Amino acid sequence: MARKTHDRKSVALHWRRTKIIVTLGPASDSRDMIERLIAAGVDLVRLNMSHGDADTHRRTVRRVRRAARQAGRHVAILMDLSGPKIRVGRFEGGRIELQTGERVTITTRRVSGRPGLIPSQYRRLHLDVRAGERILLDDGKLELRVERVRGTEVQCRVIEGGVLSDNKGMNLPASRLSTAALTDKDRRDVRLGVELGVDFLALSFVRSAADVQRLQRYLRRLDADIPVISKIERPEAVEHIDAIMDVTYGIMIARGDLGIELPAEKVPLIQRDLTARARQKGIPVIVATQMLESMIHSARPTRAEVTDVAGAALLSADAAMLSGETAAGDYPLQAVETMDRILREVEEHQWKEGCFAGEAITDRGAKLHFIRESMAHAAVQLARDLELEAVVVPTHTGTTARIVSAHRPLAPSVGACADERICRRMALHWGIVPVQIRRTERRNWRRICLQISEQCKLGKPGHDILLVSGFNDDPEKNEPVLKLLHL
Ligand code: PGA
Ligand code: MN
Repeated sequence: MARKTHDRKSVALHWRRTKIIVTLGPASDSRDMIERLIAAGVDLVRLNMSHGDADTHRRTVRRVRRAARQAGRHVAILMDLSGPKIRVGRFEGGRIELQTGERVTITTRRVSGRPGLIPSQYRRLHLDVRAGERILLDDGKLELRVERVRGTEVQCRVIEGGVLSDNKGMNLPASRLSTAALTDKDRRDVRLGVELGVDFLALSFVRSAADVQRLQRYLRRLDADIPVISKIERPEAVEHIDAIMDVTYGIMIARGDLGIELPAEKVPLIQRDLTARARQKGIPVIVATQMLESMIHSARPTRAEVTDVAGAALLSADAAMLSGETAAGDYPLQAVETMDRILREVEEHQWKEGCFAGEAITDRGAKLHFIRESMAHAAVQLARDLELEAVVVPTHTGTTARIVSAHRPLAPSVGACADERICRRMALHWGIVPVQIRRTERRNWRRICLQISEQCKLGKPGHDILLVSGFNDDPEKNEPVLKLLHL
């Protein structure tokens, strides 16, 4: 084996493993800021469909595509559908005050609110709630308890009072919502997403695998192939997580709503459990919301936030997401730089320790994908034992890259693909460096590896590189190949 003479550490740690997602909004959707965010290392951008009109999103997508092309980077666009977010209506004077202990009525009639009366934009509210259930308002800051339902009027007691203003969110943790997971607005947004060629669609308030499949069916009808990320933010989604993971491309731990719908103290362990499970299943996980919340108005994060971002890397999440920090905050660029530094600090430690993931993928013995998972495990082991500087994964659909990534190799893994769309898709996956290759070059792997090592600063002539290819979700088509190539 070739002994390395150059600095192994700086080569190995040049590429950050945990991906960064930023939400674009008024604070960050200018051409200049998008360029700076991409230069700072952003891997994916999120369009939050709860805000902004179609033309704003069109313009943002154009800007992101252009900035990424100029930077020579594969930056993915994730369109986040609003889903059935329930909101209160409007009030005379814009707001009312709720006193703890008083009675209020929520109505589904189309009226303006006033003291004692809260209009609901959700027209089926009175059909879905039962006496005794909790209703949370404005991100859980206010709390009501349902006392009884009479026709369209839901009579409640105020448990935690405060000021309630127009259009604030409403969460119904205990209720079985009869609303569709895919609203009419979501369908319009999906059609826009297809038009714009977004790389991922995130589905909000997923309750079951059927919700995900409904969106996937709609996409098939539109003849579109866009992977769906399920946002885990309802108690039912946590209950049905295995079935959801079996049909979805990836998940987002949407801690904002999740921490309202469930007691907030449940969130840390759910986050730990879901990140571990998703990796066992070989699907990517995004940790989202309030990661550097105080940076909306401050150039420095709190120590607790730093620890939270570090925690996502320690759990080996695929990606960490910024929301208000970059969409509407005063320090969008600093938030990304801060997140990048924290993630790199943890990754350097993990690399030195020789392990990027808490635990190995243990259920590779499980039936269906036994061979594939064993081969991926062997590949990662081999790369470690031979101290290889890079694993190169030729991939058509991204599947092989996804599986190699799930095993968290120590060396950076280059996903080499001729399809630009798949290159962008790989931007979500932990530790994968997407590189587009020419279709005509696909067979000459020595040449490709030399080009990659040059372009990505991984390995040198005289070094070995491990090629991994041929994984398939269909065990019949699985033809795994591990090949050691001497540059
Ligand atoms: P949102 O989703 O920002 O669209 O609400 C994320 C969350 O709830 O955490
Ligand atoms: Mn949410």
